[in-house]
Amino acid sequence: MEIYTELIDRLERARARDREALLVFDLDGTIYNNELRTLRILLEFAHLHAKRFPDLQRQIDKLPCAVLQYKIADTLRGLGLADAEMIDEVEQFWFDRFFTSEYEIHDLPTPGAVDLVNALYQRGAVPVYLTGRDAPNMLLGTVQTLLRDGFPVGTVDTRLILKDRFERDDTEFKRSVFEHLERCGDVIAAFDNEPGLANLFRERFPEALVFWLDTHHAPDAEPLRPDVLRIENFLALSPP
Ligand SMILES: [Mg+2]
Repeated sequence: MEIYTELIDRLERARARDREALLVFDLDGTIYNNELRTLRILLEFAHLHAKRFPDLQRQIDKLPCAVLQYKIADTLRGLGLADAEMIDEVEQFWFDRFFTSEYEIHDLPTPGAVDLVNALYQRGAVPVYLTGRDAPNMLLGTVQTLLRDGFPVGTVDTRLILKDRFERDDTEFKRSVFEHLERCGDVIAAFDNEPGLANLFRERFPEALVFWLDTHHAPDAEPLRPDVLRIENFLALSPP
C-alpha cells in the first residue's frame, strides 16, 4: 500500500511535467508465469511418447510447476530420469515449442499483476511491456494473452516492445530500448525477474522504483543490487 502510494505520487509528478509516466514490465517470470508453458510442453512430449518412455510419462504426469528447474535437463535428472538421448530429445521438443505464440497462451498472469497495471493505467501511467520474446515468433500469442487476461494493450497510451529477432541478447536489447523510453517519458518504475536486468534498470534510471520478481531466473545470475526492491508477486503492491 505504501509503495502503491509512492507509485501514484511519482506518476502524478511526471504527468505534471507533461511527461509520460512509464511503467516498464518484463513479461516472462514477471507479469507472466511461463512455467505452465513448459509444463504443458513436457506433458505433451510425455503423452506422445509414453510407449517409448513410460517412466517419463509416469513422472511428468504428477509434476507440479514447483519441481521445474530452469533447464529441462536439470528437471528430468531431478526426477531420476537419466537417459541422455531422451533428455536431448525432450530438450529439442521443448525448444521447438517454448518460443512460439502457440504455446505462450498456456501462461497465466502473476498474482496481482492485472490489478496493479490497470489501477496505474487508469491513473494515467503508460504500461511498457518490454520483453525478450521475439516479434516474428511470439507477438501474436503475446497480444492474445495480454488481451485475454485484461491487460491494457494496443492503444496509444501503452507500449509493447519485443525483440526484432530471436538471436538478440536480452540485455543488449533492453539496453537499446532505454534511450527511446527516456525520450518519450519518465520511467517511474520497472519490474524484472532477472537480477542482471533489474540492476541495469537501477543503474540507468536512478529516479525509478526498480523491482526484482523473485520467481525464477537464469542460473549463475549476478548478485542483485541492495537498492532493488524484492517482491514475490504483485499482491503486496495492490491498489487499496
Ligand atoms: Mg523475464
